Amino acid sequence: MTDRFDVIVAGAGPAGGQCARDLARRGYDVVVLEAEPEDGFPRQSNKSTAGTFPSMMSAFGIPDDVVMQYTDDVVLESPNDHYVRHQPGAVLEFADFKRYLVRDGREKGAEYRFDARVSKPVMEGGDIVGVRYDGDREVYADVVIDATGPAAPLAKALGVSDLKRKNQAIGIEYEMEGVEMDAEGYADLSDTMMLRLDHDLAPGGYSWIFHTGGDTAKVGLCYIQNQAHRENAREGMGIDDYLQYWLDEDPRFADAERIEGKQHRGSAHIQMPTGLSTDNFMAIGDTVPTIDPLWGEGIHTCMKSGRAAAMTADRCFMTNDRDTSAERLSIYDELWHNDVAPHMRQRLLMTQLLYLASNERYDTLMADLRRADEEVLSAANGGNWRSLAKLFHLDDLPLLTRFARERLTE
Ligand SMILES: Cc1cc2nc3c(=O)[nH]c(=O)nc-3n(C[C@H](O)[C@H](O)[C@H](O)COP(=O)(O)OP(=O)(O)OC[C@H]3O[C@@H](n4cnc5c(N)ncnc54)[C@H](O)[C@@H]3O)c2cc1C
Repeated sequence: MTDRFDVIVAGAGPAGGQCARDLARRGYDVVVLEAEPEDGFPRQSNKSTAGTFPSMMSAFGIPDDVVMQYTDDVVLESPNDHYVRHQPGAVLEFADFKRYLVRDGREKGAEYRFDARVSKPVMEGGDIVGVRYDGDREVYADVVIDATGPAAPLAKALGVSDLKRKNQAIGIEYEMEGVEMDAEGYADLSDTMMLRLDHDLAPGGYSWIFHTGGDTAKVGLCYIQNQAHRENAREGMGIDDYLQYWLDEDPRFADAERIEGKQHRGSAHIQMPTGLSTDNFMAIGDTVPTIDPLWGEGIHTCMKSGRAAAMTADRCFMTNDRDTSAERLSIYDELWHNDVAPHMRQRLLMTQLLYLASNERYDTLMADLRRADEEVLSAANGGNWRSLAKLFHLDDLPLLTRFARERLTE
């Protein structure tokens, strides 16, 4: 007997876990293949700071018991200033959250196989019909979904995604205790998620402190190794050195210590998707990639992509012919561009522009943000160039000229 399902999902991250929950709830036979062993899951893939917002929690029915800390505000910091925005959120315990998705998916009827590293597609007549995993084991399905994050073994083999190394953002984080959350001269970071723009600490990227209760916090930084990084980087320093440098320099960490075993690292690509689907196949989550380039919010967008893929498969399976051709699955592409990650191109351009700006400009940006009215800010955040233009100054001309020149040479 062949091992056969309606849908195979490779990878039990937020995207794959959510996709499996939705498919199982609709009564489909779905199997999730996860590379890591179940005992201690997730280990290496326990990589995320997992700051998120009520919109994600309620849309996907995520329970309170995976939340480490509810937050009231988001704080943006520059080297000498800061801006506070009231925006309730939640910092999740990412490992508990991933385990919840597995548990809930199983309760809804999804099958999970751990220690099941997917290596390549099984092809028939030029189309994917199954996957090879755990050495030489094979499983078959009408639809195969790659949700393995940046690993993307299926999407790469099928030529659906082309994740470029030059677009790879790397991140590292420690969970710390003894952090001074309300230090003099800084914003009060109690019950907040703080993101700091400062090339001295995270050249061509940003760093963060997310409060996790009492004097504990998740402290990390990320950057893309691009032009902005190279211009601001210090000789011989890697990402771990930058985090250590921040911990040594910032008085808020004077009495802070790392919590043992609580170190997370990972990567994501900051680029437009090259493709999203083909015959019998969809790529979701950071395999695409789907993460928001500007502030690294990936959990919500990746889960939305999992839901969009489940909706697409459901629609294909509803017809008698169960047509899963590229043409039918392109519904997913439309959903992705319209609902999952709208304005991706504009947000990529905004990201590029933001990291080209200097530390001095970051300071004036904080003042600009305080001055701007709510409507302008939310339109600018959505990628509206007219609203964004209201945040520019006359002396931004050299920055904008450089941005335009770099765009033209790409
Ligand atoms: C340091 C850091 C901090 C972050 N902070 C935030 C944050 O605060 N808020 C937020 O919203 N987002 C954050 N993100 C982004 C967010 O975590 C990701 O966008 C999200 O986890 C991507 O989900 P995914 O399901 O697409 O992929 P992943 O989370 O990468 O999951 C992929 C899964 O597939 C498995 N896998 C890999 N290869 C294979 C294979 N060959 N076969 C089978 N299984 C495989 C992995 O073990 C993993 O379980 C952060 C990311 C990093 C790296």
